[in-house]
Amino acid sequence: MTTITRFAPSPTGRLHVGNIRTALHNWMLARKNFGKFLLRIDDTDAERSKEEYVDAIRADLAWLGIEPDGEERQSLRLDRYEAAFEKLKAAGHVYPAYETAQELELKRKIQLGRGKPPIYDRAALKLTDEDRAAKEAEGISPHWRFKLDHEEIIDWEDGVRGPQKFDAAQLSDPVIRRADGSWLYMLPSAVDDIEMGITDVLRGEDHVSNTAVQKQMFDALHAVGLDHDTCPVHDACPHFAHEALLVGREGKLSKRLGSLGCDAFRERGIEPDAIIALLARLGTSLPVEPIRDRQELLNSFDLETFGRAPAKFDDTELDRINTAMVHQMDYSEVKDRLPEGMGEDAWHAIRPNLETVGGAQDYWKIVTGPIELPEFSDEDREYLAQAAQVLDFSGDDPWHALTGALKEKTGRKGKALFLPLRQALTGQNSGPDMGELLPVLGEDVARRRLERAAG
Ligand code: GLU
Repeated sequence: MTTITRFAPSPTGRLHVGNIRTALHNWMLARKNFGKFLLRIDDTDAERSKEEYVDAIRADLAWLGIEPDGEERQSLRLDRYEAAFEKLKAAGHVYPAYETAQELELKRKIQLGRGKPPIYDRAALKLTDEDRAAKEAEGISPHWRFKLDHEEIIDWEDGVRGPQKFDAAQLSDPVIRRADGSWLYMLPSAVDDIEMGITDVLRGEDHVSNTAVQKQMFDALHAVGLDHDTCPVHDACPHFAHEALLVGREGKLSKRLGSLGCDAFRERGIEPDAIIALLARLGTSLPVEPIRDRQELLNSFDLETFGRAPAKFDDTELDRINTAMVHQMDYSEVKDRLPEGMGEDAWHAIRPNLETVGGAQDYWKIVTGPIELPEFSDEDREYLAQAAQVLDFSGDDPWHALTGALKEKTGRKGKALFLPLRQALTGQNSGPDMGELLPVLGEDVARRRLERAAG
């Protein structure tokens, strides 16, 4: 049986770090099992869904390298939901209800006031044909609820949370369709999961109670039969796994995380691979490491390692991973993003000092100049004049040739030997390894800078 997973964002906004994590884990689950990963655009909410967000979701996934094997779109499948709905209706699994939002709210308040759970009282089921006709004559169209089997204890083995049990009698019959005919999320999702042959639903733990409801929908849909039922295992499909939510460092669901997405990462110079390496293992028992090889991440990917405690997203950890990754990047990968004229040697000289690839701009200015020199003492100026004289680029390591010769000549060592040279050559007190940087500066520039510093 081929594993088929799906990532099902609603295009009502940009992807945030929590969605990205869900997308990634679904992609990994599919890849690990040589299966398929689908992008399903959950756009039944016509008012809030926007085409620009659909495009942004595709672009963000492409930037992250989370490529779907196929794309589905709920707004193109409304006839499928209609067909399923008609079958469920004929079999008595759905029923019309007429309460207004205010009436429902009042009922909830009364139940809560009596210390009872706010479960829908199924008053609509008691309506007679005449009652319904009267409502419709008043111009009130019904919304539709799915009738749960209240006798059942719903259970499943969750891929992350282990055995789960829900007493169906403690759940409200979910509204699946609005009075204007539009769909809420629950039914279309279940129809899609069946018709697209989804074997594994991996999503956030905020969906656990939806799963309880949807499990009964799957059963009802299988019982009435869908024309396009491609689900490979009819009584046990799909497998569910709910991952713990992502929280900020302070341990709370933060607003910031809800809006932290690829744009902000890109702006901060975070590499997609850093986000992937972090999110692949955050909240698992595996160590978060700067692993750029996705196959290596896939090899260790296992839902068994996922913890149940909220996963803490920490920006400083992301920065740490990013920095380590920048230090691993080859020139060929970054050359299009480097300042004009910056070659491979310069990249290698500068790379260990960078936190982001974009930071190369600042270091490149050290090479191209102009640089600002500090005040040198007379002694140092004399020393730098000597340096300009002994500078010799004939060997393959001019820096060690220079410092070796100066050490011998002047008896200087340590800081006194190195710092004036670095300052004269770069205008900085610290920075790239001079052994690598000096050849990048080249003989002429280096001699001119030493002479200028010598006054
Ligand atoms: N569109 C739903 C959401 O974004 C999908 C949930 C699911 O994975 O089934 O929450």
